[in-house]
Amino acid sequence: MANTTYIDAFDPEGISREVCETCGVCLQKCPVMKMEQEESRVEIFRLLNGQKTERVLDECTFCFNCNGYCPQGLRPYALIMERAAEKIQTSGRGFPTYVDYLMTGKTDSCVFWDVYDGESEGEKTILDKWHYIPPRSQEVLFIGCMGREIPYGTEHSRVFEALPKYAPRNACCGELAYRFGDYQGFVETVERTRKMLECLDTKRLVCYCGSCANFLGNIWPNYHGVTLPFEIVSVWEWLWEKYRNGEIKVERPIERKVVLSDSCYGSELGDGFLDAVRGLHRAVGMEVVELENNRFDNLTCGMASIIRNHYDLGEGFKESQRKMGQVLNTEVGDLSCYCPGCYIQLQGAAGMSKIKTHYALEEILWAFGDEYPVSLRERAAKQTELFIKKVKDFFKG
Ligand code: SF4
Ligand code: SF4
Repeated sequence: MANTTYIDAFDPEGISREVCETCGVCLQKCPVMKMEQEESRVEIFRLLNGQKTERVLDECTFCFNCNGYCPQGLRPYALIMERAAEKIQTSGRGFPTYVDYLMTGKTDSCVFWDVYDGESEGEKTILDKWHYIPPRSQEVLFIGCMGREIPYGTEHSRVFEALPKYAPRNACCGELAYRFGDYQGFVETVERTRKMLECLDTKRLVCYCGSCANFLGNIWPNYHGVTLPFEIVSVWEWLWEKYRNGEIKVERPIERKVVLSDSCYGSELGDGFLDAVRGLHRAVGMEVVELENNRFDNLTCGMASIIRNHYDLGEGFKESQRKMGQVLNTEVGDLSCYCPGCYIQLQGAAGMSKIKTHYALEEILWAFGDEYPVSLRERAAKQTELFIKKVKDFFKG
C-alpha cells in the first residue's frame, strides 16, 4: 500500500526506525549546517520527537544528501520533510497561490500550461500528439512538465528518433508537491500520472528530466510504495549507453571549460547517473571543473529552500547565492546545469556577474547533431515572468 506521509520513508523496508541512535552523523556531515556532535545529537532528538528545532528547519536546504550519510541506512531527509510539512500545516496559513501555480494539475491554473499556451501552433501540434499513448515499443521517452516547454527539438531530434514520445499535458512526477511539503498533492499527482503511465506497453521508460527519473524510479517505489511495471532510466544514462555502444557520435565538438552544477537528485540517482553526466560532457569536448561541493555533498540551487519561513522566496535566493559563491571561486565563466530547475534558478543568481549558464542537455544533444530552434532560456524567461506576476498578485490580494 502506498505511504501517506513523509516519515513513512524514514525507515526503508527491512530497517526499523528504532535503529536511529541519535548519533547525529547526518547533521554533522550536512554540507550546509556542519554541526558539532553534541548539537547534532540534540537536534536529531528534537526531530524524532516532534519538538521545535533550533536550526534544522531554518537552515536545511532539503537536498537529500544526508540520506547517504546515515550509517544505519535511514533517510533523515524524510524525517526533516515530515517536520517541515507539520510546521506548514500548524501555521494554518496553507499554501500560497503562487506555490500551487507551480504544480501541474493541482488547480486549474499552472505556470507550465500557461507557457504551453504561448507556444507556436507547430509546437502545440507536437504536444497534442504526445498526449496520446504511443504504440508498443521496447523503450519510450517520457517528457515531463519542463521538457514539454521545448517540444520542437525533442520531436525532431535525430538522437531520439527511434524513441516514441509520451508527454500527457497533466502528467507530472510530483517533485514540486513533494519537495514543497504538500504530501497530499503529491499523492494525487502520483495516482493521476500512474494511471497514464501504466497504459504504456514498454520495457523501459527513458525520462527526459533527471528529476522524473528520480521520482518515478526511486521516490515513488522506495519512499512512497508505488512501483511502475517497467524499468526507469534517466536520459543521461541512456545517452551515455548509446555513446559508449557507438550508436551516437559527436558531430559538433564543444571545446569549453565548464563548471558543473550537481542537482540535489544527483545524490539519489547515484554514481551511474553522476558519471554519465560527466562522461557526456567530456565526450563532446568539454573540460569539467568540479565545485567544492559536488556529487554526494552538493549544494542546492535553492529552489527547495523556499519552504523555510513559509515559502519565503528570499530563502531560495540565499542558497542560490551560496552556490554561486562556489561557482565564482572556480574562476570558470561557464556554468553547466543538467537540471532545468537549477538552470533557471542559477541563471537568476548569476545576475550581473560574468557567469554564463548553459542547459546541459540542449548543448550535448546539439553536439550529437540535434537542433533546438527554441531554447529553454527563452521559455524560462517567460516562465519566470508569469511566476513573478503570480507572486505580485498574491501579495496585492
Ligand atoms: S537535507 Fe541536506 S541540508 Fe538538510 S540536513 Fe540533510 S544534508 Fe543537510
Ligand atoms: S538518522 Fe542515522 S545518522 Fe542521523 S542520527 Fe539517526 S542513526 Fe545517526
